[in-house]
Amino acid sequence: MTGAATEARSLFARLTGGSPDGVWSAPGRANLIGEHTDYNDGFVLPFAIDRRTYAAAGIRADARIRVASTFDDAVVEVGLDELDALFPDERGAVPEWARYPLGVAWALRGAASRACPGFTLNEALQGDESGHGTDKPGQGWMTTGVDLAIASDVPVGAGLSSSAAIEGAVASALDELWDLGLDRVALAQAGRRAENEAVGTPTGIMDQLAAMLGRADAAVFLDCRSLDAEPVDLGFAGARLALLVIDTRVAHAHSTGGYRDRRDACERGARLLGVPALRDVSVADLPRAAELMDDVTFRRVRHVVTENQRVLDTVAALHREGPRAIGGLMLASHASMRDDFEISVPELDTAVEASVAAGALGARMTGGGFGGAAIALVDHDEVEKVTDAVTAAFAAARFVAPHCFVVTPSEGARREA
Ligand code: ADP
Ligand code: MG
Repeated sequence: MTGAATEARSLFARLTGGSPDGVWSAPGRANLIGEHTDYNDGFVLPFAIDRRTYAAAGIRADARIRVASTFDDAVVEVGLDELDALFPDERGAVPEWARYPLGVAWALRGAASRACPGFTLNEALQGDESGHGTDKPGQGWMTTGVDLAIASDVPVGAGLSSSAAIEGAVASALDELWDLGLDRVALAQAGRRAENEAVGTPTGIMDQLAAMLGRADAAVFLDCRSLDAEPVDLGFAGARLALLVIDTRVAHAHSTGGYRDRRDACERGARLLGVPALRDVSVADLPRAAELMDDVTFRRVRHVVTENQRVLDTVAALHREGPRAIGGLMLASHASMRDDFEISVPELDTAVEASVAAGALGARMTGGGFGGAAIALVDHDEVEKVTDAVTAAFAAARFVAPHCFVVTPSEGARREA
């Protein structure tokens, strides 16, 4: 077991004096391409990374849930029947980090209460409550008390989705301890519900699906409308390529205005074009779009429409030519986010420019923007050269030194022990 898995186990021992019933983990993710397309019903191409969050979990004799994490000193404990009173409206009563694990428990319990014969838990998680089930939690499904001890080696707030990692680890643990038998997409939906309603962050479902569905040396091609997911071989290992993450250490914050504002612009653009979502607009429709809306809204729309096309082009290029063919698409994606969507920051632009100047095949910011990380596709034996060049460029610009590390496309959520 890795360091963080051992830490989760020892935290569990300190918390309870015993050993857990199991340890579950889920990875962070990097998005190869397809940014701000998820909530527009579009396409994304993330992959799970070899940095994971571990949840050591055990059943309790009572009906309480207790969570601890190496992320924070506080231990939070509530009765299972109190979760419905906390979320979504009274979430301020628990520390923010604890809303992720407790929110997942709340989402899964809510689904368990709505499920009944003929209306499965998987369906209940889709949010269809049309007259099914009862409002009494736990009917038919036992949701017993649990202790959860969490540790992670996913950097927090770096755009690598430590939030989906904690949600995925906890959802996998509870699915098994509560014997829910949910499929991976449903567990991703529980994580998204926790993040949207229990934490209050208006994110799409890409991160959770990547954390649940990742595979070694593959990306997950997701259709965010149908939730169809298809693994796409990346072939980095065979092509001797590495994916370098450049964490700018500029903290991003989803809840601040920029993210909300971009979502509003996309909704406005779709409304003006008379379509349910920007997914339904193609590159050929852009001249018409330009006539229908103001310049800023148009540029937001153009980013999403061209980015959707770039995801499709990347998947096609990977199939046909392999990973060395995608560098140009990554660079075009970054330019579109910098110029049209306006979510880059100088540190991210510097990371992209310096890495390409030092020999990277392609690079782009990844994640929601306004900080966080960039990724660069680099020849194995040039990782050090590119890292040094980026570090030097940051120093010259008087930016805080970046954290650079290689990530490997890896397996999604799993039971560790
Ligand atoms: P990102 O997902 O890009 O890392 P977010 O702001 O979406 O950034 O999520 C980070 C938040 O998730 C943290 O501030 C914390 O509240 C919660 N979180 C992530 N990992 C852990 C962990 N191991 N233990 C407790 N909380 C965590
Ligand atoms: Mg997140």
